[in-house]
Amino acid sequence: IEQTAYQNDKLAMLGKISASIAHEIRNPLTSIRGFIQLLRPHLIHLGKDEYVRIILMEIDRANDIIYEFLNSSKPSAPQTTLIPVRSLLKEVVLLTESEALMKGCQIELRAGEVEEACSISVDVKQIKQVILNLVKNALDAIDGKHDHDGQGRIEISASRIGEQVNITISDNGGGMDQHTLNHLFNPFFTTKEGGTGLGLSVSYRIIRNHGGTIGVESQVGAGTTFMITLPLIHVAK
Ligand code: ADP
Repeated sequence: IEQTAYQNDKLAMLGKISASIAHEIRNPLTSIRGFIQLLRPHLIHLGKDEYVRIILMEIDRANDIIYEFLNSSKPSAPQTTLIPVRSLLKEVVLLTESEALMKGCQIELRAGEVEEACSISVDVKQIKQVILNLVKNALDAIDGKHDHDGQGRIEISASRIGEQVNITISDNGGGMDQHTLNHLFNPFFTTKEGGTGLGLSVSYRIIRNHGGTIGVESQVGAGTTFMITLPLIHVAK
């Protein structure tokens, strides 16, 4: 799936605007968060711990949105480090496990097909962000469909084919219709209430900057699979 020049212009402009305002929004958010933490014991004493939880959650959500905007304005050259594919994926699973548990969803990591020592040379923060985006989208798709009946499944797998690593993220969530499939990599395209529509456009750009590819297969009612390929720069012996 190719991104048009128009979409890239949109992303570049978005980057400029967001970099200048994100900082100004983040500072007050940080101080609000700090003061709420200070008030927390008093509010809990009043039996309002649920309010505290919601306030903190919403502040964190606002911060996440700013982070995504900032991410889209990052310079394109990745800062590469060598990392074993398995440990990169394991870290993402660790980060998402509690959310998955809460949604009654099982995350399975199948990295057995990729050697323990198989490493890729990537910007670890950026690639983790991509996988995280995909897993979070999968969780959202499962949340909407299975409604806590405990049948949600996400499978993350990795394999090595020649000089490239393939990573797939599959879910048995609600899947996507043709309209969504046609637009999902466009900046600001979202079907979610409160969604930013930035996760996949940013992910697309990151993967492309790494010389890789990202593709998707989906069926309404059955689920979705995202496929990433990344060039393998080095295999440690
Ligand atoms: P956001 O998550 O903020 O909506 P994204 O760019 O990450 O932004 O995703 C864009 C849209 O693509 C989502 O709103 C959703 O409709 C669709 N989508 C992405 N991943 C999945 C998935 N695993 N299953 C179903 N739909 C998905």
